[in-house]
Amino acid sequence: MVLTVFLMLLKKAVLRAAFLVSVSSIFFNFVANAEAQVEMLPDQELVRVRLDHGLSQVEIRGHGLQVQGESKVAQPVSLPHGEEEILTITRLSTKGQWLWKVVIQRPGSRNEIDTRLIGYPFLTVNGNSIHRGAQPLPNHLLFSGEKTFSLIAGERLRDYLYGVVAKEMPISWPLEALKAQAIAARSYAKAMMREHENRPYQLESSVLDQVYENFGDKNLHDPKMQKVIRAVSETSGMVLLDKKHQVVKAYYHADCGGKTSSSQAVFGTKGLVGGAIDSSCPANPKARWNFRISRDELSKRLKRFFHASEEFLGVNSLKVRVLPQDERIEEVVVKIEDGESRTIKAQEFRNMLGYQELRSTRFQIHQTEDEFVFSGTGFGHGVGLCQWGTRAMANQGAQSHQILSHYYPGLELKAPKDFYSEKSNGDQNEYMFD
Ligand SMILES: [Zn+2]
Repeated sequence: MVLTVFLMLLKKAVLRAAFLVSVSSIFFNFVANAEAQVEMLPDQELVRVRLDHGLSQVEIRGHGLQVQGESKVAQPVSLPHGEEEILTITRLSTKGQWLWKVVIQRPGSRNEIDTRLIGYPFLTVNGNSIHRGAQPLPNHLLFSGEKTFSLIAGERLRDYLYGVVAKEMPISWPLEALKAQAIAARSYAKAMMREHENRPYQLESSVLDQVYENFGDKNLHDPKMQKVIRAVSETSGMVLLDKKHQVVKAYYHADCGGKTSSSQAVFGTKGLVGGAIDSSCPANPKARWNFRISRDELSKRLKRFFHASEEFLGVNSLKVRVLPQDERIEEVVVKIEDGESRTIKAQEFRNMLGYQELRSTRFQIHQTEDEFVFSGTGFGHGVGLCQWGTRAMANQGAQSHQILSHYYPGLELKAPKDFYSEKSNGDQNEYMFD
């Protein structure tokens, strides 16, 4: 164990040296170097989450703010300690080089106290009680981009998970359901942190990855949040591993519609086998849905999707190819009025029509002279954990590890104390799933 930890530290040191000018090192140097011990505890590692992008200006407020480019030394802004500071961050192009322009002001006064120009690709801001408008932000922020830029949060994994669990599952649901959700979200995040280790941000804060919002200290003390905090802390560090002991990108979705799918069938990536049967899924009040679209509107959307020329003649009919094992649509074949056919992957078809409208890829199509009607079941891509099924299992008394074994067959659930160790026998926090 000691040797493993030593090797990990050594590996970390080598990695730091290798990516000295990369964004992760800037962030780690600044935030985590002094806290190397803390970083070794479960859920204390820093995750970089993109909160917003395409920005040309952003205004943030906070206390004890410090700004830093790529240099080792952080520069405190000029206000006396304790006073609130306002930073307005923009990009400035001069002689072909992009600079960060940081204007420092006091609340209630539009007079500039100071202006900094920083000529590095990334800018970090650290401080306390940071806000953007009414939205609380974490204490570590990273800005990245050229003409327009992204606002990236540097958040402890634990605090990130509070935000994700509370946004991804209703907090009124049973504790064991929230715990299963916390483990799935942690596994997904850790897999993405590894995959995007050297990118400015590792996760989007939207449905593209996991929906996340920083709750700020005040909201975190709200009694309603205590169940979320319990769900994360009682599963602290627990993740799902594959046969090679790698953390798995543990996808999850709202409602499988009766049966889950494999990641291979839906995303073309290995990892999750699917095939879990959920007799309880009609418990979702929106389990069955219809979506209607006129021929004209569908033709318009398809024309845009195919980047077709003006002569695009419109849709004659739609046919589907079904995944044999799980009754999900794999591809939609569009027959155009000139007799040609084009094929779209079902997930792209959903993206084109809207994920909220075409709620899953379990649907049938009826067509009339004027419109197409899609009738389906379920909500979401159908891979991994099904949230409505999770709720039903927890209501029937299932524990979080039993729920996870239902939705992630073949994976292993591991607790942090042996996560960094090869030894794994006889631990009651460890489960092999059939
Ligand atoms: Zn389900």
